[in-house]
Amino acid sequence: MKTDIQIAQEARMLPIRDVAAGLGIKEDDLELYGRYKAKLSDQYMRGLKKEKDGKLILVTAINPTPAGEGKTTVSVGLGQAFGRLGKRAILALREPSLGPCFGIKGGAAGGGYSQVLPMEDLNLHFTGDFHAITSANNLLAALLDNHIQQGNSLQIDSRQVVWKRCLDMNDRVLRNVVVGLGAKADGFVREDHFVITVASEIMAILCLARDMADLKDRLSRVIVAYNLSGEPVTAGDLKAVGAMAALLKDAMKPNLVQTLEHTPALVHGGPFANIAHGCNSVRATAMGLKMADYVITEAGFGADLGAEKFLDIKAPMAGLHPDCVVLVATVRALKYNGGLPKDQLTEENLAALERGIANLDKHIENLHSFGLPIVVTLNSFLTDTPAETDLVRDFCQKKGCEFALSQVWAKGGEGGIPLAEKVLEVLENKKSEYHPLYEPSLPLEEKIKRIADKIYGADGVDYSPAARRQLQKIVSMGMNHFAVCMAKTQYSLSDDAGKLGRPEHFRVTVREIYPAAGAGFVVVVLGNIMTMPGLPRVPAANHIDVTNDSVITGLF
Ligand code: ADP
Ligand code: MG
Repeated sequence: MKTDIQIAQEARMLPIRDVAAGLGIKEDDLELYGRYKAKLSDQYMRGLKKEKDGKLILVTAINPTPAGEGKTTVSVGLGQAFGRLGKRAILALREPSLGPCFGIKGGAAGGGYSQVLPMEDLNLHFTGDFHAITSANNLLAALLDNHIQQGNSLQIDSRQVVWKRCLDMNDRVLRNVVVGLGAKADGFVREDHFVITVASEIMAILCLARDMADLKDRLSRVIVAYNLSGEPVTAGDLKAVGAMAALLKDAMKPNLVQTLEHTPALVHGGPFANIAHGCNSVRATAMGLKMADYVITEAGFGADLGAEKFLDIKAPMAGLHPDCVVLVATVRALKYNGGLPKDQLTEENLAALERGIANLDKHIENLHSFGLPIVVTLNSFLTDTPAETDLVRDFCQKKGCEFALSQVWAKGGEGGIPLAEKVLEVLENKKSEYHPLYEPSLPLEEKIKRIADKIYGADGVDYSPAARRQLQKIVSMGMNHFAVCMAKTQYSLSDDAGKLGRPEHFRVTVREIYPAAGAGFVVVVLGNIMTMPGLPRVPAANHIDVTNDSVITGLF
């Protein structure tokens, strides 16, 4: 079997203007970034208003192993399969972050014969959106520290600066830093912190903003610090909004690329799902619904994180109504959830699989509780045995849950036809009665309790003393109607990465709560989750290279 990058480099891409022409997009509405990438103009987006919306298919997964379970791969393969069936489908996906690309997981353009191209560009700098977001984030930080230096007329309490600098890199030493060392002219000394760009509130805002006016409104509400009286100081107070929006002007426009089989893909925005809201931009999804009959979109990590936030944050804010969910499972992740060590996941082990399937069971229940029709798909690996595949299929049959095997990694769109047919059948016969888990009017504390109880299966929620104070402050600032964005481990339904399968009789602990007033949610941090990841002992970066002819190798 060839590596992902070999398959990607051997592929023949169509010029992106041809892919666009296939969607009826005029050349004037394309902003080309080379031959194979383009941004779509605001004018094109406005012109789509009168089009009818297509069907929205959300791809999510069970709790994963560190390698990822193939949501992107399945999404791409499903899009390609729709194409083979003569259906007009488009993908709406997130842009990859450099953190995982150089860390453990590798890139995020799909895999095998189901990939988005150009794979190297997508995984590395793409169209510069992350650069723009990083710059806007750090401009705000620079303006804040400069304001303190230049007399501090807003009376910012330098002990209560909450805005953090960011970088799109796994760089643990930047988690806690001291800035402003040196002479008087070098600023006030204070403790500072970095987050990875995909956890920045600017990323969330870019992904949730409907248009430029909404973007600026949201940016103006961002809380950067508290003043000496304890009142919030915002980006609006710092007069930062115009310049930040100027930096984000092009990043606001969705990017059009293609898959190995030339299915159009909108790849735009990329918050992580464990420490942010985990979905591509509202603009790309909304645009896709007008451009095609079927939009396939992925939410990050397991359904307890990405899908919960898609269904409780993104969809309500954007007025989206998902029609069907594809729940991806793998034999290896089920065995991992059954307690098998990572180095034994490729050997047949029906007992571990049987134990781990409790995890799939819980995710099926959870998604049904949102009123959504589901298709479970087993993302097939070459190491899966027939007995293992049968066990998963039989389990779904017994549950009365639709099931399709997905062989899109090995076979591309062809391997996704059974899944595409099953999804079409469900769209035809089952009506989505989607509703979020909570209403905005439910108090924050109750929202947190409901997610912990209904989605995670926890017995209750404990608060650290600091988190309790933060919650009181947030409520007193009039934010009780905000949505909740949980930050927690992706490996478990609980806040403890070691509790696999379907944990029971546990409580979760809120360690910290902070408002993301521009995004419109509060971030609730459970357990020991990091907003700036670190690199592993042997980072993927060690194997990446480029030939003298500028061909990239070792990226996966
Ligand atoms: P996710 O979106 O769930 O994080 P990805 O689709 O990015 O997962 O896949 C993670 C990694 O696993 C990729 O490197 C991909 O090539 C690989 N992969 C996915 N599906 C398969 C499969 N069926 N067989 C082998 N490798 C796979
Ligand atoms: Mg993915």
